[in-house]
Amino acid sequence: MKSTLQENLTQINNRIREACQRASRNRNEVRLLLATKTVEAERVQQVLDLGESLIGENKVQELKEKCSLYKNPTPEVHFIGHLQSNKIKEVIKWANCIESIDRLSLAEKLNNRLEFEQRKIDIFIQVNTSYEESKFGVAPEKAIDLIRSVSALKNLNIKGLMTIGLFSAEPEKVRKCFQLLKKIQVEAKALQIPGVALDELSMGMSGDLEIAIEEGATIVRVGTAIFGKRIHPDSYYWNEA
Ligand SMILES: *Cc1c(COP(=O)(O)O)cnc(C)c1O
Repeated sequence: MKSTLQENLTQINNRIREACQRASRNRNEVRLLLATKTVEAERVQQVLDLGESLIGENKVQELKEKCSLYKNPTPEVHFIGHLQSNKIKEVIKWANCIESIDRLSLAEKLNNRLEFEQRKIDIFIQVNTSYEESKFGVAPEKAIDLIRSVSALKNLNIKGLMTIGLFSAEPEKVRKCFQLLKKIQVEAKALQIPGVALDELSMGMSGDLEIAIEEGATIVRVGTAIFGKRIHPDSYYWNEA
């Protein structure tokens, strides 16, 4: 008998495939990131065993508790939560990529630490496309400046942009957020800043991944639709501390 996790995963992969078809995109242009906050390592492992290979964590504590438990082949790990600079050392022990770089001070501290360790890491710039106070991310008008400044930091590879977008029952309002992220990508690419690739757009979650794929997402981050509801509201994970 199929497990619930397996059924949920099949459904999500069907949604992604159908959205790609509608948008005339190749299915392999879009990766599924499992948003695993609060989910026990054992359940995450079950989904990894079904063939998934990319996970995202929001809290440093969970990152370090769970990541050492995954079996080979271990998943690619992205950090997608708000990052405090005093947690940098711990995060880079576990994460292959940090999607939530939203201020120069943080990028500089991260770069210093990586320089000290003589290594590099992939990062995304997080943009607050919904202009909500409650969400992190650089303001859209300041995104290009931040990309430029961060591009000078030699131990960070800027791979793309990330956004959470508006939670709204009105799809067209959600779509505007994703279109804005795409627009920033196009503008930034046109500047041909040395060392900046910016091919990735991480956007779209359980409720809005179709819209995100239509607007160019290369990574969709899905939690609830695979693992079920969480006990805390999302604001708990997106806020400081
Ligand atoms: C929790 C979370 C997700 C996944 O959200 P769901 O609605 O559960 O799919 C995606 N991105 C970030 C940054 C998150 O914190």
